Amino acid sequence: MTINPYVDATLLGPNTNRRDCHQEFAPSLRAWLTNLEYFADAYGAYGSLTKLVYDGMYVSHRTSPSFHNTGEAIDIKWFDWSSGTACRPCNADFDVSSSTSAYRRMVGVEASLRKYFGNVVSRGYRGTDPDTGEILPYVHADHFHADTGCPVSFSTGKESNQLFARDCIRAFTLDTTTGYLSTSATNPNQWTTAHQASLDALLASLSMDCFDIDTNISEYLIFLDYIMMHAFADRAAGHFRWSGAQDL
Ligand SMILES: [Zn+2]
Repeated sequence: MTINPYVDATLLGPNTNRRDCHQEFAPSLRAWLTNLEYFADAYGAYGSLTKLVYDGMYVSHRTSPSFHNTGEAIDIKWFDWSSGTACRPCNADFDVSSSTSAYRRMVGVEASLRKYFGNVVSRGYRGTDPDTGEILPYVHADHFHADTGCPVSFSTGKESNQLFARDCIRAFTLDTTTGYLSTSATNPNQWTTAHQASLDALLASLSMDCFDIDTNISEYLIFLDYIMMHAFADRAAGHFRWSGAQDL
């Protein structure tokens, strides 16, 4: 596995067969990591990726439905770059008000995952207790979960996508008026016309006014590339602009 040299085994959690993943999951994992390394090197605000810590792919003890049961999912806790900077989702205070650069790194990593894994959840996503049905806020507060259980796509109708879009808006336009997410476990997050207007403004700042990332997968993937470019160059939205249809 290409990924192993980056793993600091002393930081891995228990109950994890940490070298195993499904043979059909490995190519996605390798392609994602290669792409992340490329963007980190090419845009270079933080240097090269030097360490990645993950906390489980195949996890045999799980009883609830999960792609971890078949080794087709990964939980990632920690990224380090050669400049000494890191992305650690456990630092749940990511926001523009604390560290814009750290926030951008986190969103850039999530964008990279979203290019290769159809299902990605991060800090704000709420899980459900399989036994009681209770909603568990912030169950992914300390790691990114990524699996290949569905095709790569984007929809403002999906909570994890809403949260990612809000993070992109806040990290790169510094528009904090959209809020982040409901802190109430029982009050579902909403995607409002105000959120859509903020997302449209972000797209406009990237010269992607004509993009419809909800329905056009090619445009969504270009959008993710530009989020990564801004993230790993540590720039506000608009530093890089889509140059036109010839890029498609
Ligand atoms: Zn997971």
